[in-house]
Amino acid sequence: MIGGGQLARMLALAAAPLGVRVLAFDPAPDACTQSVAPVQQADFDDLAALHVFAERCEFITFDFENVSAPALDELSATRPVRPNARALALTQDRLSEKLLFTRLGIGVAEFVQIATHDDVRAIPASFKFPAILKTRRFGYDGKGQAKVPSVSALESSFIELGEVPCVLESRVRFERELSLIAVRSADGEMQSYPLVENIHVDGILSASLAPACVSDELALQARDYARLLADALGYTGVFAIEFFQVGGRLLANEVAPRVHNSGHWTIEGAETSQFENHIRAVTGLPLGSPAARGVSCMLNWIGELPDVRAALAVLGLHWHDYDKEPRAGRKVGHATITAPDFDQLAQRLMIVGSALGRETQVQPIIDAIHARG
Ligand code: AMP
Repeated sequence: MIGGGQLARMLALAAAPLGVRVLAFDPAPDACTQSVAPVQQADFDDLAALHVFAERCEFITFDFENVSAPALDELSATRPVRPNARALALTQDRLSEKLLFTRLGIGVAEFVQIATHDDVRAIPASFKFPAILKTRRFGYDGKGQAKVPSVSALESSFIELGEVPCVLESRVRFERELSLIAVRSADGEMQSYPLVENIHVDGILSASLAPACVSDELALQARDYARLLADALGYTGVFAIEFFQVGGRLLANEVAPRVHNSGHWTIEGAETSQFENHIRAVTGLPLGSPAARGVSCMLNWIGELPDVRAALAVLGLHWHDYDKEPRAGRKVGHATITAPDFDQLAQRLMIVGSALGRETQVQPIIDAIHARG
């Protein structure tokens, strides 16, 4: 497992009952996977260390997307690397990702490439503002992004982001943000979890509601898109596609070539968790059912954990502490609240909100539940 963050940690926890042992690789001396699995500590670009690591492993995978794709490609000569380095390279780059979406007939927000100041000056008059400028690489959780209210602000946003290659995207007036988690085995079998509704605050995922209430057409469209994408990439493992819902349509925002925060609910809320299914896919075991068990809401704990005692007193709440130091903007844990139906989920969320002082975090989810009618 290249990477030793909370995703690697939850993957290691899911691997153990399958008889699969995880070795993580991470430069941080305090990588949070270390309390559940051994971690080889070295820099991600230390190729010699990666080779030593590969020799100790039967299969190689990763828990985040900023691993070096050429290094992964090199390791794939000695061990199966799943997902493959090409899929990683493509999804690391917002521009190549959008070009692939477009080639596959998957809708995206209007976008244009911005690599130089000449590109800034050459913006077509028809391009719609407000917009968002995003670095092509290394962005996550709202980082590497700048709001661009009008064309006159573009130059300063480009400078603010460090004049690195970017894409400029029109701001989408979406009704909802949805995501699809899917898994594909090495021989092409595919399973998709139900679509999830996501609430973001300041570009960071705050809560997910599963399953999302969507038409059969939309659910089918998302599944088709996932199949097209996974087949095009020869993908093995779990991945996530984030969508904007605009009217009856889905516009793809981005792909994560890994297990995803909006799939954490599957640990308690699905027949087989995304983490277990990723391990199954990577190690060549049969995939498990992605069907939902009841309904779920995942709440991210960002910056610091709420009071664990108050949380555990709530019926249906499942606690996940990532064993990370509190820090502003950092994901330090999550909770999944499960219930047999949406009425009971809304009631449990009200209790969570008041017991943990998180009313503002749960309110948008309660509103989304009420909007279902
Ligand atoms: P990203 O890093 O691309 O996933 O963006 C983080 C969040 O910013 C998204 O989940 C949306 O809430 C918001 N966002 C990103 N791009 C757009 C867009 N083109 N239009 C509207 N909101 C966006």
